[in-house]
Amino acid sequence: MQKRQEPSRSPYREVQSHTVYRAPAPPQQVRRRRRKKKKRHPGRLLILLCVVGAGVFLAGGAWRGLVPKVPGHNTIALDAGHGGVDLGATGLLNEVDLTEATVRALEEMLRADPHYTPVLCRPYGEGMGINERAAAARNARADLLISVHGNAEETGTASGFECYPLPPGRKNHDESLKLARLMGQQMRAAGSTLRGEDGVRYAYYVANGDGSYEKRILDPSADSEDTADSSFGVLEGAGCPAVLAEQCFITNEQDVAAFGTAQGCRLVAARYYLAICDYFGTQPVYDEQGNALPQNEQN
Ligand SMILES: [Zn+2]
Repeated sequence: MQKRQEPSRSPYREVQSHTVYRAPAPPQQVRRRRRKKKKRHPGRLLILLCVVGAGVFLAGGAWRGLVPKVPGHNTIALDAGHGGVDLGATGLLNEVDLTEATVRALEEMLRADPHYTPVLCRPYGEGMGINERAAAARNARADLLISVHGNAEETGTASGFECYPLPPGRKNHDESLKLARLMGQQMRAAGSTLRGEDGVRYAYYVANGDGSYEKRILDPSADSEDTADSSFGVLEGAGCPAVLAEQCFITNEQDVAAFGTAQGCRLVAARYYLAICDYFGTQPVYDEQGNALPQNEQN
């Protein structure tokens, strides 16, 4: 009850009485000063953003997106999985050796073909983040992306080819599936067994709710098409039809002998190249062994 009488000496009142004698600046002046300060900030920030933006634009290669596209000529983004300190899976060889050997051979074939321009998602021998790899494809305005990987399994018995197109619900799903099926057909013709449905599967990262993710693999016929879970980041971010291929098991002797040696990687590259030619309907300039075909004058 006593407390009710105290407010007459409360600190609040004292403070109030002090401020009365401080004679603060007229409200208008204060307002003007504040307004000036506010004006300065956006200007400086804008200049800073422009400078940083231009730097990122040039360094990131976004300027390439301004180059007009040539009809009938296609840019193929090639992503050699892993790289740098990331050797990928280990088995009878390091996965990264397989991914780079295959991409090198595929790059050579595409470069020799006047219909195509290959673009690397990362430099050879270097590592790069998934988002940067996808950005490299986007900035180059790639028409297709192929991400090359090798599979691994503990017992050494698993073998065969499988590949993952952008799953249903994505803008480029149909075209990705078309390329994936062509790649599967080519690998079957090369003597590989096909996993999934004709070598095609969908992959999703499903959130466990504790911040971790679990990889879920579905066959195309089992896919419900309504999943919001993300697939491989490099596919999701490429901005074009995209397929990730596990070309063979680096833990399986027969697979490595056929598709993991330098010669084997070249053979797989030739098969990927023929799948690309099939996809766009162009005349190949390499055969299924990776040998350059004699060129007639039309080419
Ligand atoms: Zn991999």
